[in-house]
Amino acid sequence: MDMTRIRDRMVEHHVTRRGIRDPGVTEAMRTVPREKFVPPGSEEFAYEDAPLAIGEGQTISQPFIVALMLEKANLDAGDTVLEVGTGSGYASALLSRITRHVYSIERHERLALQAKERFEKLEYRNIDVRVGDGSKGWAEAAPFDAIIVSASAPEVPTALKEQLGLGGRLIIPVGRCDAQRLKRVTRTGDATFEEEDLGGVLFVPLIGEDAWTATHPMYT
Ligand code: SAM
Repeated sequence: MDMTRIRDRMVEHHVTRRGIRDPGVTEAMRTVPREKFVPPGSEEFAYEDAPLAIGEGQTISQPFIVALMLEKANLDAGDTVLEVGTGSGYASALLSRITRHVYSIERHERLALQAKERFEKLEYRNIDVRVGDGSKGWAEAAPFDAIIVSASAPEVPTALKEQLGLGGRLIIPVGRCDAQRLKRVTRTGDATFEEEDLGGVLFVPLIGEDAWTATHPMYT
């Protein structure tokens, strides 16, 4: 099977036709083999525009939404970025093709280890993965030019805002499972931030100290 053609078709049908134009994002999506980020047996669905189960009750996000989040982050080749919610590793892999360095944090150890193995096999060497609570960010590696949060928080976690560099962009879904909005928070000054609404989305919950609790009724 010619995976390059299949990937090109996915980008055309599910990404560019729906308005994503950032060449860095579309080129990364043409390059990163999404079929290597889904569980064995799900490869044939890897290029559909749908989330897929990856174990631990989690999902690899729908390609269009990933493309939208990355485009809205206005990424540059020299950027250092943080992804909260590594999951399968697919979004971090895309980020690693676009930017200089990616820090990626995941609360499920098994998913983090699997993602790390995938990056090693693909020789994506500019990604650091850590197991932990990403609602607190990754202070030692801050400041970040961009932070992508791939799970929905009750509100924007303070630590993530504080770990943005000046001009840094935080893309984060906020809200309960039935009423989430995708937000872009831009650091405009030492203590000033601009917040924009980017539309309705549906993500798994961000679970952590500065997020939902694992037993929150909304998510049990
Ligand atoms: N970006 C991922 C990909 O490309 O496969 C998809 C991420 S999935 C929609 C959301 C992930 O966020 C899950 O793997 C979940 O375990 C993780 N997560 C939830 N709360 C977290 C937290 N506080 N810190 C780190 N990861 C968290």
